[in-house]
Amino acid sequence: MIDRKIIDLFRVPPGKKIRLKNYATDWAQTEELEELGKDEIKERAQQVLEQNLKDLAEMQNLLYADDRYALLIVLQGMDAAGKDGTIKHVMSGVNPQGCQVFSFKQPSAEDLDHNFLWRYMKALPERGRIGIFNRSCYEDVLVVKVHHELLDQQKLPPGKRGKSFWEGRYDDINAFERHLARTGTIVLKFFLHVSKQEQKRRFLERLDRPEKNWKFSAADVAERQCWDDYVKAYQDALAATSTDWAPWYVIPADHKWVTRAVVADIVTSALRKLDLKYPKVTEEQRQALAEARRLLEEEG
Ligand code: ATP
Ligand code: MG
Repeated sequence: MIDRKIIDLFRVPPGKKIRLKNYATDWAQTEELEELGKDEIKERAQQVLEQNLKDLAEMQNLLYADDRYALLIVLQGMDAAGKDGTIKHVMSGVNPQGCQVFSFKQPSAEDLDHNFLWRYMKALPERGRIGIFNRSCYEDVLVVKVHHELLDQQKLPPGKRGKSFWEGRYDDINAFERHLARTGTIVLKFFLHVSKQEQKRRFLERLDRPEKNWKFSAADVAERQCWDDYVKAYQDALAATSTDWAPWYVIPADHKWVTRAVVADIVTSALRKLDLKYPKVTEEQRQALAEARRLLEEEG
């Protein structure tokens, strides 16, 4: 497990303004880590990941058997921050039956005919399962805030679209997540924090390597031009919606081995805290099991 003091550095404190530039994108979050050096940390991160993946597989089984809680993992980040790869690696040991991934793209006509939370509500994990949102309702206070014209498609009643409009959306999201938490869904939110320089390197890699060409989208380069607006939108959204019941974590994303180890650690720790149990067998069930055994053994 990663030291809780380090994990706390990634957690966005509720109700405080934040500046993303104060959060590391690499591996050197503390002087201690810096002293250890990259190679040592990489090795430790890989061990942490391996252990956590084993634990996660076991705990997912328990989550399913216990059948009281669900876990919702929300992933946000700039293009090429590594959302897909994180899902693939962190969930690699988990039984596919106990896990579901939804990737949210531009809303459909049907989505736009409903309130902005509707399509996310429909995709929530049921008790016993892990649900992953690759992008989420946060797009409605991020891309939609950066590209104001997208609001015109949302068919909203007339009204001002200033600061209090966005604060209203943060309130709605907080209330939604509060409801989830109260009714047994654990909500963990990860912002994969990639530097602008590393994003450029990843885009160039997508252009240079034929097997990665399909991942490249010209729209991503256009969005990159709005980098500063996105940073501002993220800072506002993360500060307004990191709560005790649904915290945000700013995860260093310039190195994939850091991202995966940290996300896996936070997810596994959250499940560990739940005190999950296999259901107890009642006296009546015990008798039924004994009867089943008797019948099987009688077969000879
Ligand atoms: P990848 O590029 O890795 O395949 P992606 O999540 O970037 O994954 P794309 O199809 O490239 O998928 O982009 C989806 C786009 O949909 C993003 O630009 C995102 O901002 C946009 N989007 C998601 N939700 C909303 C929303 N509620 N309103 C408007 N745009 C949205
Ligand atoms: Mg994309």
